[in-house]
Amino acid sequence: MATARRRTRGTTTRRSVMQSYPLVPLRETVLFPHVLTPLLVGRERSMRALEDALDHDQMIVVVAQRSADHNDPAPDDLYETGTLIEIGRLLHMPDGATSILAQGVQRVKIDSYEQTDPFFRVRVMPIVEPRRSTLATEALMRAVRTLFERYAQLSGQMPEEIYSSVIGSTEPGMQADLIASTLRLTLPELQDLLEAVAPADRLQRVHAILEKEISVTELEHQIQDRVHQEMDKSQKEYFLREQIRVIQNELGEGGGPLGDVKELREKLAKLELPEEVRLKAAKELERLAQMPSASPEIGIVRTYLDWIIDLPWSKTTEDNFDLNAVEQVLNANHFGLPKVKERIIEHIAVRKLASDTMRTPILCFVGPPGTGKTSLGKSIAEALGRSFVRVSLGGIRDEAEIRGHRRTYIGAMPGRIIQTMRRAGTVNPIFMLDEIDKIGADYRGDPSAALLEVLDPEQNHAFSDHYLDVPYNLSRVLFITTANWLDPVPWALQDRLEVIRFSGYTESEKLKIARTFLVPKQLKEHGLKQLRITDLALRSLVREYTYESGVRNLDRELANICRKVARRVAEDKPPVSQVTPLTIGKYLGPPKFDYGVMEEQDEIGVAMGVAWTSGGGDTMPLEVIIMDGKGGMQLTGQVGEQLQESAQAALSYSRAHARELGITANFDRIDIHIHFPEMAVAKDGPSAGVTVATALISALTRRPVRRDVTMTGEMTLRGRVLPIGGVKEKTLAAHRAGLKTFILPYKNRKDLVDVPKNVQRDLSIVLVKTIADVLSVALVAEKPVTRPAANLRRGRSVRHQHSVPKAPEQPPASAPAAH
Ligand code: ADP
Repeated sequence: MATARRRTRGTTTRRSVMQSYPLVPLRETVLFPHVLTPLLVGRERSMRALEDALDHDQMIVVVAQRSADHNDPAPDDLYETGTLIEIGRLLHMPDGATSILAQGVQRVKIDSYEQTDPFFRVRVMPIVEPRRSTLATEALMRAVRTLFERYAQLSGQMPEEIYSSVIGSTEPGMQADLIASTLRLTLPELQDLLEAVAPADRLQRVHAILEKEISVTELEHQIQDRVHQEMDKSQKEYFLREQIRVIQNELGEGGGPLGDVKELREKLAKLELPEEVRLKAAKELERLAQMPSASPEIGIVRTYLDWIIDLPWSKTTEDNFDLNAVEQVLNANHFGLPKVKERIIEHIAVRKLASDTMRTPILCFVGPPGTGKTSLGKSIAEALGRSFVRVSLGGIRDEAEIRGHRRTYIGAMPGRIIQTMRRAGTVNPIFMLDEIDKIGADYRGDPSAALLEVLDPEQNHAFSDHYLDVPYNLSRVLFITTANWLDPVPWALQDRLEVIRFSGYTESEKLKIARTFLVPKQLKEHGLKQLRITDLALRSLVREYTYESGVRNLDRELANICRKVARRVAEDKPPVSQVTPLTIGKYLGPPKFDYGVMEEQDEIGVAMGVAWTSGGGDTMPLEVIIMDGKGGMQLTGQVGEQLQESAQAALSYSRAHARELGITANFDRIDIHIHFPEMAVAKDGPSAGVTVATALISALTRRPVRRDVTMTGEMTLRGRVLPIGGVKEKTLAAHRAGLKTFILPYKNRKDLVDVPKNVQRDLSIVLVKTIADVLSVALVAEKPVTRPAANLRRGRSVRHQHSVPKAPEQPPASAPAAH
């Protein structure tokens, strides 16, 4: 059997005609060419084969058995592809077996069995693999080498000789074989690799296996690290706490457990606790009193009782259900959002009438970041006179984060819900659960199941936290959840939610919000009464320093300016009385975004789409170039399955309608490359369909696309344009980017009621039913040039051949400069 010690030697010449050799079956392993492996030979038939080989040219064929169970396998039990090996050093073992050093020479395929007794002899055809490597295999070799280095580093036990032969190998097939011999693979996987003849194919497979192995090993390491860290941390804390206790006792300062018990008992007596909690606390107190003063458990019980004492069990605030007053507070703190405010007031009205036991849905605010979800939550709390707390669920994968760890666990703590209730200090706060779209499930349990229990009025009067170990009543809490978008939220949860949608703001809304709310707030917070930030400065902030659906960054940049001005005041520098577009750069540096995403001129093969993303809406440029080739299509950038399908559909459509479209290129003699430079992760899948088709047809017909046009819509194979989602966010994004014409599927016309009036005024919105409609708007009316596209110069982007004078080369589709 092979062991882990292998070495390479490449002296034996490879053969290419049918020859006859003795055969030795292998159990549970495969030997690869190029690799030197010790092999233990013990079975009678194999010994005979070995002897025969030693009498002749020292060569044998080794082939793996399909199943390790057979002690005396027949030809049918053996694979057909094996390895020709040369026998090196020979060592007789005390138990009668023989150990040889086997040098793998070449892959062979068994043609026939010449004899089966007293040993197998086979005729084999050597497999000759192509040695020529292309640029692509070179690149692949490099990639595999890098992965292998990482793998060797992670595994920490790669023998130096194997490592250096892999790194030094110059042939793709050899590199793949050397690595394959070091991987922990099953027999069928090893055999597969042996049977893969083309070196590039083998390398591809090794690449995939290495990638997987690296991820698994990294994950293992992470888990180990985490466990270590947690142990270390809680042990250290425990140790320090014990030291403090001993020191206090020595100094006569600490009351010892008995002093603690007295103090705790007094505190507990003052609280209005549910019966079950009172009993539990009394029991724990009793245990504490009984503990010897050196017991390590004292700290644990004390901390537990502190949690019981600090948590609110009965303290409430009186609700102010005066709906007018609520409305006033909401208006005083927030600009616009009429529908949202109305829904909130209705919700509060229902709550006012509902008895405590009635099942009211949980509010869920859905919308892009910075659109006022959190601050409205705070305002609701202010209006109702409740305390306000929030907790972010983003990235939670572990149920214990919500429900806590049992106390038997070292360093256990209550989960986030109970921790947050302690912060709230009352049993009826407004409790905001942020980012419910970003929780995930894995092997540590499903946090969303725990969340369901938190939000369900039928269960949440007795929420169970593992640490607390007594039920906690959450039924008087007013929960508000928030999400950027609903899709990832599990259905069972969505079912409980009353969704209120927030959408992005237009430029003029942002300016109003800044002027009336953000600027006064920041000036007040920074103690800058006299500072004036001019309207033009605000516009420059909106256009050139922030690029977003909401106003979060705008708020942040204003805070930045105020901080810098405040510092000048503090340093007694000459006072600043106003901030203008000319002086903004002094505080914030040069502009971060180019306003407007339009090309300098109409371009061929470049189209601007719009996407609906979790951050609101965003423009999404894409480019197509056509080259001489063989009918291939390549997609690059961040391309998901939907985009690939859209591209295929657009291509098929163009082929089917080549004549009407004026396409003269021979599709079998061109290659198409579609590039999505800054593809946002769109929420509504196929809506880039018309954009892909437009850019492709533009490149094929060499008609330029109008630079001020943007478009959205799914396209069917027959060229019909289907409706899409996120119309409001998309029009806002186009408006924000300064585009002029917006092509929208006809069936989306009902969604136009949501689009603000000034956006409709600035954007010319064109409703279309077919891709032909799209092209007639988007492409510049011009006769197609007759030369076939395949003959055009190769280049990054096929430009409009007639344009005079030619614009300087510039990045195609210069969308927002940074993200
Ligand atoms: P979200 O929770 O939606 O991400 P925030 O509530 O944190 O957004 O809002 C970011 C900032 O923008 C806050 O300072 C908020 O007060 C302000 N803001 C957002 N929308 C409005 C609005 N309509 N009127 C006034 N201020 C707003």
